[in-house]
Amino acid sequence: QPVLGILGGGQLARMLTLAAAPLGIKTLVVDTSAEACAGQVAPLIVADWSDHEALAEFASHVDAVTFDFENVPASTAEWLAGRVAVYPNPGALAVAQDRLTEKTLFRECGLATPEFVAVDTREDLDRALAVTGAPAILKTRRLGYDGKGQFRLRSGADADAAWEALGAQAAIHGLILEAFVPFERELSVIAVRGRDGEFRTWPLTRNWHTDGVLSLSLAPAPDIEALQPRATALARKLAERLDYVGVFALELFVKDGELLGNEMAPRVHNSGHWTIEGAHASQFENHVRAVLGLPLGDTGARGASLMFNWIGALPDPAPVLCTVDGHWHDYGKQARPGRKVGHATLCAPDAQALLGRAEALAQTIGWESAVASVREACGG
Ligand code: ATP
Ligand code: MG
Ligand code: MG
Repeated sequence: QPVLGILGGGQLARMLTLAAAPLGIKTLVVDTSAEACAGQVAPLIVADWSDHEALAEFASHVDAVTFDFENVPASTAEWLAGRVAVYPNPGALAVAQDRLTEKTLFRECGLATPEFVAVDTREDLDRALAVTGAPAILKTRRLGYDGKGQFRLRSGADADAAWEALGAQAAIHGLILEAFVPFERELSVIAVRGRDGEFRTWPLTRNWHTDGVLSLSLAPAPDIEALQPRATALARKLAERLDYVGVFALELFVKDGELLGNEMAPRVHNSGHWTIEGAHASQFENHVRAVLGLPLGDTGARGASLMFNWIGALPDPAPVLCTVDGHWHDYGKQARPGRKVGHATLCAPDAQALLGRAEALAQTIGWESAVASVREACGG
């Protein structure tokens, strides 16, 4: 029976494990914490990323290795790649771990980005502000997620406060200043590339963030006829440049009808969770298939889907469980402010039916204003 090794044991590893099981594929997970929630559904090795003894033991039990977490040190990924097949390859992982190399690659592939400048010193920040203008966002180049490691500057007067917040990170991870984009919409393309180069994308997803954290995803995103082929072609170009194998997400802003690249996630992605129930093959199933060299599944949507992210704590599951084609996901994590602890997906044959179900649910859980933006996105 094939065994897929997964570095990182969060909810993504958990959902990969659940998707692998029907294919007769087992998983083996490594995490630095014994509390990792994938450990509830898969065997878990607790080890540091530099623990070569534990990693060698792990490598000896698996047919391929992949990631639930893109911040596994690239050196660890490379060390493992000397012993077992690692997908995506460590070089692709390294590019996507650094916002500077990532955005540079986007531009090389013909994907425009917000104006950006590397910042290593306080003087660099002033020079960078002269390039980007204000408002702008200062971000750590590495290790940020869910909006952590970011500071928003309304004007040049906020530079001292921004440096106060992130200056200490400059020496360790480097910083990047980006122009703030007053975008019309945020979209993501979830894509998969097989070992043989076969490439597919799911329909573009529209995303809404609250305080830098994803709160809602609607798929297929409305009004994407012109954007879908461009987004797919750009994702394919990136994947081919990186010789990427597996699923990845490309986060995009739409500004004046044009696509701008925000970041890529070299793994399955929160904005693709709707594919579990809303697509013929989910991102998790196709990632498992891709990294083990199996044929890819159909990435078409079954209808329309809306995903609600549960941040900090879970609401009462009953309203979702009682909704037609409503699907509840509890990651088995301790409640903690800002933490992703679960999600729910509503599916329906089309966007209008989906809105009806979503509005009824939103009333019972207090998400009316969020779902009002979904109605607006669907043309009122
Ligand atoms: P994650 O990896 O969880 O998606 P992250 O911490 O890597 O998040 P980003 O994707 O860089 O963070 O930013 C989070 C959100 O903040 C974006 O989805 C977007 O809503 C907003 N944001 C980030 N950069 C910009 C920008 N340059 N202009 C406008 N909004 C931005
Ligand atoms: Mg990110
Ligand atoms: Mg992001």
